[in-house]
Parts: sequence; C-alpha cells; structure tokens
Amino acid sequence: MLSNRQLFLSNTAQTSASPRLIEIERAEGVYLYGPNGERYLDLVSGFAVSNIGHRHPRVLEAITTQLDRFLHVTVYGEFVQAPQVALATQLLAVLPDRFNSVYFTNSGTEATEGAMKIAKKFTGRRQIIAAEKAYHGSTQGALSLIGNPEYHRAYAPLLPDIEFIRYNEPGHIGKITTATAAVILEAVQGEAGIRVPDISYMQAIRKRCDETGTLLIFDEIQTGFGRTGELFAFQHYGIEPDILLLAKGMGGGMPIGAFVANKAVMDVIKDNPMLGHITTFGGHPVSCAAALASLNVILNEQLMADVGRKSQLFRHHLQHPAIREIRGVGLMLCIQLDTFEQVESVSKYCAENGVIIDWFLHCTTALRVSPPLIISDDDIAMACSVILNGLDRL
Ligand code: PMP
Repeated sequence: MLSNRQLFLSNTAQTSASPRLIEIERAEGVYLYGPNGERYLDLVSGFAVSNIGHRHPRVLEAITTQLDRFLHVTVYGEFVQAPQVALATQLLAVLPDRFNSVYFTNSGTEATEGAMKIAKKFTGRRQIIAAEKAYHGSTQGALSLIGNPEYHRAYAPLLPDIEFIRYNEPGHIGKITTATAAVILEAVQGEAGIRVPDISYMQAIRKRCDETGTLLIFDEIQTGFGRTGELFAFQHYGIEPDILLLAKGMGGGMPIGAFVANKAVMDVIKDNPMLGHITTFGGHPVSCAAALASLNVILNEQLMADVGRKSQLFRHHLQHPAIREIRGVGLMLCIQLDTFEQVESVSKYCAENGVIIDWFLHCTTALRVSPPLIISDDDIAMACSVILNGLDRL
C-alpha cells in the first residue's frame, strides 16, 4: 500500500520540486503533531494564519454552533446571514470611521482582485502602482502586481497598466500621478523578506495619493490581526489607507478574506453593470463565525500587548555570527543569512529537532519567524536554541 506521502506526491498537484513533506496528524496551540509521535513547535503559523494558535477553543465552539445552524445557503450579497453581519459589524467597530463597508472573500488574492476592480471603477483610471518584490496573491490580476520579473515572464501576458516603485524609496513617489487609480502596498513587505518601511515614507505616500486623487490600498493580509503588535500595521504609521485587504490570520484557521473601504468606493460594484463582482462562497458562514471568534480572542485576551516583548526576546536569544541581520516588527521576523543552502540546512535541522521554520518567496537567503502570538517565553527560548544549534552546524 502506498503511504500518504507517496500519494501526496503522486495525486496532489505539486507547487515545487522540493516540498517539505512534513506529515501532520493534528494541531493544538503552538504545536503540530505527526503520525509517529513527532511534535513540532510552529514558528510559521501556517504562513501568518494561526495568530491565536491552532484550534483555539473559542473558534471551535463558534464553528460547531454555526454547523448546527446552516452551511452555505446562497451566493454572497443576497441573503441576510447573521455570521457575516456580526463579523462585518465587529470589524468596522475596530477600524477608523472611513471604513464602513466590508466585502468578504475566500482568500487573500481575491481581496486583491476586488480592490483593484473598485479602485479602477471609482477613479475611472487604469493605472495601478505596486512595489518591487511585492506579493498580493497568485491569481492573474494579483500576480500582475508581484514585482518580480521571473513570474511576469512565465505567465505573460498579465494585466496592462501596472507600474512599479521601489518599496520605501521616497524618490519613486513622484511616479504616482493623476493617471494612477491606486497604489497598492503591503503594510510591511512579507515575501520580500520582511521589509519594514519608514513612517515618513508611508506618510509621504498617503500625501501624494491625496494630492493626485489616487486610492491607497494597504495589503494587511500578512500583517493584520495583531502580527506586528497593533491590530493592523497601518496603525504604526499614523495614516489610514482607503482600502484594506485582509485574509490569513482573519479566520482563526478557516479560509476567509475581505476588502474593506468607504461605502462611496465600495458601492461602484452595485450597478453599471449590476453584479459586477460576485462570489459563491465568499464570507462562508462557518468562516465568518470562526473569524468573529478569532477577532474577539485577539481583543479580549489582549494578544497584541505582549507581541513587542516577545519580538525582543527572539532578538535577544538569536545572536550568532552567521546571522547577518534580524529584520521585522512584532512577531513578523526574518533572520538574514548568506545563502539558500544555509537556509535549507537550518530549516531541515529545525524540523528534525521539532521546530518548523521556513523562508520567503522573494528572499530565499533568510529564515521566516512568525509564530502564533500566544507562544510562551519558554517556547521562544527552546526554538531559538534549536535554531542556534542549526546555525552552529553550518
Ligand atoms: N498578500 C500577502 C501580503 C500575502 O502574504 C499573501 C499570501 N502569502 C497574499 C496576499 C495572498 O493570499 P492568499 O494565499 O490567501 O491568496
């Protein structure tokens, strides 16, 4: 009989020639468990998803309550579904006043797609500006914004009228003009290897967008829901975007995303033509129930309060001559090494010794550290000692 691993390799589509092949049987809190008694401390959070840990009891409770009521009943935007209404209401309550309309999606890339559409229709303009080394998703519209020529070449033609600026480069801000419908930026660049922008840069981007009538879209798909120590990373900058993209950590482990804007912007999808942006499963009631529970856990358990201290603890422990730099904010950290071989070797050593760590799409010479926000000080110390041992063996 073929093993699960063999069936995975033969029967499910492969996204690379070297998948991690770590088999998971169950997960709880900050730990993942394999079928043969393996236990892994999760320093990746399923790629910034499990901010409140795996299978949080409040999330499980919300899911089971909703399972007893209804699953899918109709396409998004027609029936009044209480879990969607409750989640939208709570999200808007924690966001600045300009945000008063939420469109729910299934994923991050769909949030990007929706935001690009409303920005173009609202402004009547065609050009969208994104940043080099951005990542906003893998569908063709979102992929057009990736700012990495390798992906453009492989999947051309992508969307026209996309221009790129260098992230955190004030000299490029002038490229934003009255022809620009939207500027889309990650609030902190993730797949570029965690690039934290200057506050003055973000403020200058906001100012230029105001001057040119351009909408500012912040992708908080990776930074949202407490990861950087604020509920949303834009709160670090003293500015507000016009459109906010959410997903990943939003659902407490369930698939959901959203784009959030002012009603005046959002309402362009209502007519001319009507139903210009629709989705069958967006805002699935079970995902919405889980997302509301997850948001309430983050708020009620004040998970953001300790993120800065835990971030410092990682930096304190992680001192090694092979480490070139530790970048990041909150529990969105990156350990810069020199080569991909080093990254592969340390990740492999960590997995063999019970710690899951990974790297980045556009930065394969650095390790990704984005654990659940609930990680304990002891687990941080343990994880760092495994990483340091892995570095010693290079
Ligand atoms: N934006 C950012 C900043 C992301 O990190 C990701 C996922 N890595 C996405 C968008 C795409 O989200 P999804 O995989 O849910 O489509």
